Amino acid sequence: MQSVEQLKELHLRRFGTVPQVFAAPGRVNLIGEHTDYAEGFVMPAAIDFATLAGVTQREDGRVVIRAENFDEERSFEAEALPEMRSGEWSDYPVGVLRTLAEEGYRIPPLSLSLWGDVPLGSGLSSSASVEVATAAAVTRLMGTAIDGPAMARLCQRAENEFVGASCGIMDQFVSVNGAANHALLLDCRDLSYRLAPIPKSVALVIANTMVKHSIAGGEYGTRRAEVELACRILARHRPEIRFLRDATVVDLERWGEEIPEAARKRARHIITENARTTAAAEALETQDMDRLGMLMHEAHLSYSHDFEASCAEADLMVELAGRLPGLIGARLTGGGFGGCTVNLVEQEFAAEFKSKLGAQYRERTGIEPEIYICHASDGVRRVG
Ligand code: ADP
Ligand code: MG
Repeated sequence: MQSVEQLKELHLRRFGTVPQVFAAPGRVNLIGEHTDYAEGFVMPAAIDFATLAGVTQREDGRVVIRAENFDEERSFEAEALPEMRSGEWSDYPVGVLRTLAEEGYRIPPLSLSLWGDVPLGSGLSSSASVEVATAAAVTRLMGTAIDGPAMARLCQRAENEFVGASCGIMDQFVSVNGAANHALLLDCRDLSYRLAPIPKSVALVIANTMVKHSIAGGEYGTRRAEVELACRILARHRPEIRFLRDATVVDLERWGEEIPEAARKRARHIITENARTTAAAEALETQDMDRLGMLMHEAHLSYSHDFEASCAEADLMVELAGRLPGLIGARLTGGGFGGCTVNLVEQEFAAEFKSKLGAQYRERTGIEPEIYICHASDGVRRVG
């Protein structure tokens, strides 16, 4: 995390007042991929990369937002929030202000400084960390308390509606509600959740393949359509199946023949992934790391073979990890077709794991990966 003292100093120098500072983390999903829109389960952890937001009141009626990462500022009248997105970084904090205003809150004149170390656009959800840090800082300044799930929904709406990026609730939810040394099992149906302990001796090593295959955009829509088709066919037999969350492998065995092959495979991924995700939380709760590793391995195979959302580079990254000492489990995380793998690694092996995985991946692909050693961290909080 960036230095809180340094952010205070920067804010003081620029705006003349010492801010209250909030930190909101990025995240990594340990298991549960493409299950969110099937009203299923996901199990992310907040990580120790975060965006800091420092906030103070102003006397001149304006809102001034400063991005220390870019040395840029955006300002406007508090009574006249921007109505349109601009296509740049300020959309994320402005989207949060607008969403608050739409919910009936009056945005006071304020100075907001943002400064983060979540890698941008690497799939660790720097965007959610900016939104959540902004929401926490601004609501505190307004003297308003918003509960965790409501804050997550508000930030998701800002990203969906103002920024114009479709994303589920997971990123914002865990950035608000995550806890140090815990993963968060989230039920995307009703947003109920429970925390499952990750042993302190385990590091979350995130390895960026540095590739994102261009099919990713279009394939997301095809996958969703296939999942919905499979669901409709199963629901003809069992109307209580509203989403694949409600279906079982037995349903698939009985009526799978009626579903076109691709859709059947996508459905098998979702149905088995939901079961693996809740089983993974139980494995953490019983400290059964071998079981957790197996579940992550099976999740990767299912994502690769049934959901067909992996790629050669991600499969290689997972395969190489499997041969290194200290690995508990590895799989491709995120939307698919590239991006990052998540590796649970015994902390004492983490540095060696990082350097060997990096060297071997580079040797095999010619690509220099980015690898981050992280730990499960607290959700948004006041710091300093
Ligand atoms: P991801 O969420 O996976 O990191 P996104 O494309 O969703 O990638 O969000 C990245 C964008 O979020 C950046 O391009 C930038 O506009 C904004 N952002 C992230 N971190 C910061 C920051 N510290 N300050 C200002 N804007 C940020
Ligand atoms: Mg994002």
